[in-house]
Amino acid sequence: MIRRKETIMYRLRTGYAKLNKHLFKIGVKNSEMCENCGRAPETAKHILLECTTYSDNRNVMFQELIAQGVTNFSMQSLLSEKAQSVLPIINFIHATKGDI
Ligand SMILES: [Zn+2]
Repeated sequence: MIRRKETIMYRLRTGYAKLNKHLFKIGVKNSEMCENCGRAPETAKHILLECTTYSDNRNVMFQELIAQGVTNFSMQSLLSEKAQSVLPIINFIHATKGDI
């Protein structure tokens, strides 16, 4: 389980996630765009902070982050090595994309 969490965080940090931006680049998908909203490339930032499809899940994540004492919701802060932000992010990914 710990390794799986580390894998997800690593993929979010590096961009090597199974999201359309990366899948398009390596020739797996025909488009890099988010299939939920169609408004932007599907990146880690789009999923975590922007896509309106995930607003409810994002609110849950923000509440969990605040409960952990995390109040800076920038990508740089969320994906830093800070342990407090890991579980809320993992919960969000499981609830939205499932696997990345
Ligand atoms: Zn979207």
